[in-house]
Order: sequence, then structure tokens, then C-alpha cells
Amino acid sequence: MSKIIAISAIKGAHKIVENAENKVKEAIEEKGEDQKLEFPDTGYFLPIIYSMTGIKVEKLGDCFEVIEEAKKLLPQIPSDRVWIPYLGGTLDAGIATLWVEEIIEAIKYLEEPTPENGIWLGAAEDKIIRERGIEFVDGTAPGFAACVGAASTNEMAVQIARELQEKSIYVFMAGSTNGITMSEQLAEEGVDLGWETRLVPFGKDISAAVYALGFAARAAMSFGGVQPGDYRRMLLYNKSRVFAFVLALGEVDDEKYANAAGAINFGFPTVANTPIPEILPRGVCTYEHVVSNIDEEEMVTKAIEIRGLKITVEKVDVPVPFGPAFEGERVRKENTYLEFGGNKSDAVELLVMADSSEVEDGKIEVIGPEVDDVGEGDVLPLGILVEVSGRKMQQDFEPVTERQIHYFLNYPSGVFHMGQRDISWIRFSKDAVKNGFKIKHIGTVIHAKMHSDFGNILDKVQVKIYTNPEDVMALKEKARKIFKTRDERMGALTDESVDTYYSCTLCQSFAPNHVCVVSPERPGLCGAYNWLDCRAAYEISPAGPNQPVKKGETLDEQLGIWKGVNEFVYKASNQNLESFSAYSMIQDPMTSCGCFEVIATILPSTNGIMAVNREHGGMTPCGMKFSTIAGMVGGGIQTPGFIGISKFFIGSKKFIRADGGLKRLVWMPKELKEEIKDLLVERAKEMGMEDFLDKIATEEEAETEEEVLEWIQKVNHPALEMEPMM
Ligand code: SF4
Ligand code: ZN
Repeated sequence: MSKIIAISAIKGAHKIVENAENKVKEAIEEKGEDQKLEFPDTGYFLPIIYSMTGIKVEKLGDCFEVIEEAKKLLPQIPSDRVWIPYLGGTLDAGIATLWVEEIIEAIKYLEEPTPENGIWLGAAEDKIIRERGIEFVDGTAPGFAACVGAASTNEMAVQIARELQEKSIYVFMAGSTNGITMSEQLAEEGVDLGWETRLVPFGKDISAAVYALGFAARAAMSFGGVQPGDYRRMLLYNKSRVFAFVLALGEVDDEKYANAAGAINFGFPTVANTPIPEILPRGVCTYEHVVSNIDEEEMVTKAIEIRGLKITVEKVDVPVPFGPAFEGERVRKENTYLEFGGNKSDAVELLVMADSSEVEDGKIEVIGPEVDDVGEGDVLPLGILVEVSGRKMQQDFEPVTERQIHYFLNYPSGVFHMGQRDISWIRFSKDAVKNGFKIKHIGTVIHAKMHSDFGNILDKVQVKIYTNPEDVMALKEKARKIFKTRDERMGALTDESVDTYYSCTLCQSFAPNHVCVVSPERPGLCGAYNWLDCRAAYEISPAGPNQPVKKGETLDEQLGIWKGVNEFVYKASNQNLESFSAYSMIQDPMTSCGCFEVIATILPSTNGIMAVNREHGGMTPCGMKFSTIAGMVGGGIQTPGFIGISKFFIGSKKFIRADGGLKRLVWMPKELKEEIKDLLVERAKEMGMEDFLDKIATEEEAETEEEVLEWIQKVNHPALEMEPMM
């Protein structure tokens, strides 16, 4: 390897460690050793340090141990005359750099709890890691690019960002070149920054690059079941599962070299547009480690190639950038050219099966005014009728495919879609219209995406788009009748009424022994897959992660144990699980991968349970935050007393039926209670407990288990009368 890069990285690391030590000393002088030190809302402490060493940095005083460890890793700065034959010392210097940079970044939180400049996001809360992590699980995000420095021009920064977005790759930005940052370049050009658009401005200093690697470390712990301190598995996990790379834009100084060396440990290579020394032979990374002097225009392509990423970008014939990364882009009111629905006009979307003779594939009609017939700021009614046919299409798949319209219509940059059915809301931005986006392109997008995502069940797709009030009203009438029939059909589906459930093993890429068994009354714990979805998914890709599971003989009706399901789970869990109860959180509960929307756990003294959703950042009565509990139950293991579930499941008749059902619920966050209120009210009514909802405490009534007990005694909660849970 090159000796220049080694010297540079090692020198940089020495400088950064020294700097960190000074910062810690200064901070202690001012605030004392016991000053709390943490990133916001996380159960992973300073995650790179925690994942590699198991050390929980919780206060300033804890930093010394880490700094001592970092110093032990630091090699001597080599003299110019010595040839360094292998990467070891450089890699160690890189690790030392990352550890102490986490400390440097955490200390910043003592000074400015909120970033002073609006665009910097700093450390992501666990909530975000989990939400975003699932995209790495299901493949909607192939990886991330850690962009360091700034592009040569603002236009080039936008071009690089768009290219990565179109490939669905997350863009994590840190550091500057001559005081300029890529994030600011994008912001100046009016590009939407944030987790939603996958353009994440971590911070202006190079040390903010640790947020990108900390993301990777946390993914390994929360989805991969990697235990804190198991540095080897953490790094291997990232090398084999997280497809990331570093784009070094502009001059690379010693500190940046040191960070690049840190990234190499994770298997993340660096591509630079300046002539820095290269590290070509394979070793830690899949292919080359550092490749330099690549034209800015070519960097993304090069990085994808050397990281061994496989990406298929479909070409959809619309005049704006297109891809899932634009999904989170908002079109604000002042940027809106044309609007449909959203209480301002009627808007409805409907997908139905039709006879093959009635569907002409690719036919797109706009019936009523087009973009050219209206002016800026106008509102139109909108009716989208998608008619499909295909030998494998079934009426049951209509809702599943129809729901995709929401995702598809968010993919074109400058188009925003919200809602579904007859409450949809669409905006076209001024930019999109200026670039030539028309109403007919709604049809283009739906036609192309239906074929690419549902090609196995659909042969033909045609789209009619109505923009005059009479036709829209007529479509709405028709659609409402169909929606009603569909709801009745779904409501009538029970676990007893079918003989086949479906598995989902999508999360095995992160949690290798995890399997979700999805039944009509129990959706997958991520909330994204119900029984019909899985059934459709199986038809679409018969060898995919959703397989039919024959229930077979019922072994225990109350607990929800079936012979066929057990056999399937045994195989699918790599012989780790022998028995599985669908309706209990105590006896052989379902495993949890890490994507659960909600965790339910016992509060022993109350004889009941609490349920906490991922969005809830605060403490819970069981004495742990969501993120801490999640760390205990994730990774594909059975944890009696805890289950990861979807929000919807709480309102199901089968929700922990064997343990007493919904009646056990004594605490949940207010936000969650509001969100699933209708479901809960209906279920409580069925159980003959009309006032039940008011008896469930939230953080407003009780913060500790004792307070929950006091509350439920006060309101006479039914859990008190029930048999002991265990
Ligand atoms: Fe993962 Fe289960 Fe959701 Fe499938 S249903 S994506 S396995 S959490
Ligand atoms: Zn999962």
C-alpha cells in the first residue's frame, strides 16, 4: 500500500486524538466529570464506541477510558523512509479517529443542544435509524454514500445528489472544502434536505462523518443482533450487508484521510476526485479501498462499481428525475403550480380488474383539462381509474395494487401525493410543470410501475384520468360502492376462515432467524404486510420472502398453535424455533426482527401490560425507553414477556388472546392511543367495555409502574380482576 496515505492517516489520527483529549479536559473543567454526555434519544450511547468496545459513555468522565484505548491503537507516525507493507496500522488509526470523534461530536451537544444553523441534523435518534433501517432491510435503499467536503460547483453538487437519489442511495454529508459544504451547496440551490429525501446534512466538521458510521454500527446492533463489544461481527456485518462508500470531494487533508481509514474498517471504500494516493489491492473492502483522481461526473458510477453494488434503475418516461428517493420531497404551497383534492376539490383513485378485451395496454387518456388549459395556482378535480387485466390477477389483489399508486406518484421529483381512495391529494410543483410534467404523466408513471412491480400478475394496464367535475363525481360514486364491498370482505376474513397463512422472511437479511407468520388477524410486526399483501406478493414472486404456510392440525386453539405452522417456522428459523404461539406473548411468542411498530411488555405489579410505539421517545413505566427495550427483543429471538407487533394488531380479536387480550392493556403513549382510537373503541365495544379506553393510562396519567398501578386502581381497570399473567 501507499506509504503516503498511511503517514497522512496516522498523522491525522494523532491530531484528532490530541484534540479530543483537550476538548474533554476543557469540558470537565467547566462542567465536571459527572456531566451527562449523550446523543439525543438513543439506547446505543456513543454507538461506534459502544458497538466496538461495549463501553457505555454516559458522562464526561467516561471519555478517558476511550481515549486511552484509542491511544493504544495509534501507531507511531512512520518516517518517510519506512515502507509499510500492510494496512494494519492505518486501519487502527482510523478506528481511534472514529472513537474520539464521537466524543468530540457529543461534547458539541453540551454547548449547543440544537444545531445553530437550521440545516444541520447531527445525530439521528433511534426512531429514525429504525424507520430508515427497514429500507435497507427490504432493499428500497441499496446503501449510503458518505459525502465529505464540497463539490466544485453548486450545480455539480446537485448533479451528484440527484444521481444518488435516483439510485435510491442515501446521501450522508459531513465536512467542508475551503469552508464550503455540499449540504450548503444543495440548500442554496433550493434542494429539499432531510431524512425524507435521503439527503442528510450531518454537520459542517469532518468529525460529523461519525454519524454515518454510527448509523451503520447501530444498524448492526438493532437489526443484525450484534452484541455491543463484538467489534469483529459488527464490522463484518457492515462489510457484507450495508453497501456504503465514501465520496471525498475536493482536497483531502490528514484528518479526512484518518476518517477514510476508519471507513475502510467497515468495508466502505473511498473514491476521490483529487489525485490522492490509491490503495488498490483487495483486503478489507470487497474490491479497491481508495480510488483517486476520478472525474466528479464519474464518481458515483465508480463507487457503485468498486463497492459491488447492484442497482437497477428503471427508466420511466417522464420529464423529471424519478425514483423512491423523491418520495419524501414536499411540494410546498408556494411552490405549487397545480393542485388536486386535499379538501379543495374532489379526488379519487380506483384500480379495478377488467376483462382483457376491455383493456388496451399503455392507453392513457386525460378526459378534461390538461396542465396547458389551467394557470398557476389552479385547482382541478381528479379521478384516476386504473383498469388492469392479467391471468393471475384476482379481485383480492385490487386493494394491494391500488395502494401502490400512492408510492408511485411520489416518485417523480416535484410531484406530491397523499392519501388514497377518495381522500387523495396531489400537487405538481412549478419546477415539474416548467420541465414539462403533464397530467397524462400520472398515467405514464402508473403504467410503467405497475408493469415493473406487478408484472407477474398483470398483463395489461390502462389509465383514465378525469379532470372535469361530472366525471370525477361519477367515478367517486362508483368507487365508494367498491370500497365498501372490499372492507366487508376484509372484515370477514378471520384466522379460522382460511387454511393457509403466509410467512415473511424479508427481515432475514438483517435478523437471520426471524420469521413473521402473517394471518388475516395478525399482520407482520412492521405493519407493512397484511395477509392479503403477502398473498399477492407470493403470486408476484413465487420464490420470494412470502411463502404459503398450511396451518395443518390445530394443536392449541387458544394459544394459536398449528402443526403446519410449527414445522414451517422450525425450518425457516434455521432450526431455532420449535414452537410458536400466535396469540400469546408469554408462551413461545413470535420472534422480533427489529422493525416492530410497537412493543408490548408486562408490568408485573399491575397484572397488565403496556404498549409503546417507536415514535415515543420518552421513558415508559417499565423503566426503559423504546430504544432500550427494542435492543432487548430484536434480532430474531423469542423473548417471553415481550412482543414486537404492528399497531393494527392491538385492535385485533387475536391480540394476546391467550393471555387475556386487550383487557390487559394498562398503559400506552397518548399519541398511539389517539392514532388507533377508532380501532380500540370498536374492539372495546365488542367486548362490552364502552368506557375501557379512558381506563388506559398514558404518560399524562402515569410515568412509573407504581403510578400506573395507582391509576388503574382509581379507575377500576379490568386487568386487576384478571388471573395472574404468569
Ligand atoms: Fe420484516 Fe415481518 Fe415486516 Fe416481513 S412482515 S418485512 S419479516 S417485519
Ligand atoms: Zn423486520
